Amino acid sequence: MTRDYKKDFPLFENRGKRGKPFIYFDNAATTQKPRQVIDTVRDYYENTTANPHRGAYALSNESTEVFESSRQAVADFIGAKTEEIVFTGGTTEAINLLSLSFGAVKLKEGDVILISIAEHHSNLLPWQRVARVTGAKLRYMYVDKNGRIPREEWEQKITNRTKIVALGHISNVLGSINPVSEIIKKAHEAGAVVLLDGAQSVPHIKIDVKELDVDFLAFSAHKMLGPSGIGVLYGKYELLKDLQPIKIGGGIVEEVTEHTVRYLDPPWRFEGGTPNVEGAAGLKAAIGYLQGIGMDKISEIENDLTRYALDKMRELPEIEIYGAADSNSRAGIISFNIKDVHPHDAATILDSYGVAIRAGHHCAQPLMQHLGVHSTCRISLYFYNTREEIDLAVAALGKVRGVLGYGDE
Ligand code: PMP
Repeated sequence: MTRDYKKDFPLFENRGKRGKPFIYFDNAATTQKPRQVIDTVRDYYENTTANPHRGAYALSNESTEVFESSRQAVADFIGAKTEEIVFTGGTTEAINLLSLSFGAVKLKEGDVILISIAEHHSNLLPWQRVARVTGAKLRYMYVDKNGRIPREEWEQKITNRTKIVALGHISNVLGSINPVSEIIKKAHEAGAVVLLDGAQSVPHIKIDVKELDVDFLAFSAHKMLGPSGIGVLYGKYELLKDLQPIKIGGGIVEEVTEHTVRYLDPPWRFEGGTPNVEGAAGLKAAIGYLQGIGMDKISEIENDLTRYALDKMRELPEIEIYGAADSNSRAGIISFNIKDVHPHDAATILDSYGVAIRAGHHCAQPLMQHLGVHSTCRISLYFYNTREEIDLAVAALGKVRGVLGYGDE
């Protein structure tokens, strides 16, 4: 029996009180927050507010302890060392940081940046810019109709000219899980470093950065039950040590003179300005909540829900599903279209049945062009969703064409 996780999430409860169903299927965009996370953030504001790393008084030290203990929790969660965890504003900021501090400084004409056609714009635009500025070439690995990157794509396109492979671990559109271990191995053989965009993987599957041997990993707290405005760039320490900060100012220096500066070691070197301590506190609480269930259990629940949703949706002939047919090779993200129906109309009609789904290009326009579609609907699941919700949502999906007057209802 599935545990009733919803009792920990105030928004679900409030919607229930209003007598309106509230089926939240937009978890790839952001997740709902459990009471434990909200309470932790409130507790920080009420009892610990002070600027960390700065003060010589007890409250400031407590704030520092909150911030740094969150860094420790993040490190433990992904199998990293504490000094390898850089707090950022989220995945987008983490990739911008890496693209400017590594890409824009280390790359030159003739070098190759390799990404996939399925990247979120956050892992595409920073590399487009680096390519423009440095003269390096931006190359793409293309996905097949199942959303998979065929082996030849990365085997042939990773060469000794490739300096960085920047790849989404799990596609936010197709849910495909990329064969990152093999790609990382091949990239290392060619002398390239690898950044994984873990925005859609870290919240859903167990990740050990040392086991993966990945060089950099970016992710966002808000997609894993935590607050918005905080995320992480993990980097191998020997690589971070070699990078210069982008955001420079207070809190990141050993010594400044009129014309010189000596920066602190990583990770503090990259965290200029007053940090998001309350966000870090909330992220630690979110990690604690996820660990309480267990990441393997979370993957198992989501895999079951995904298989169930795919089976139910396939019963509706008017629905075309994109990506892999097999639920084992995809995460709980299902993009689809309903015959003759614009995705925005579908999402609006579903909303009237109390079902929140996403419609649009999902910040992945080159992928849309590659798939030959303008936009799609997207259901994205988290462990707190249920089969009953899928039944209700699929029943609502079955009504969409009728509501629009297609007459085949
Ligand atoms: N990459 C992927 C794969 C994503 O799904 C998202 C969020 N939709 C991002 C990057 C950007 O994350 P954030 O907005 O939290 O910076």
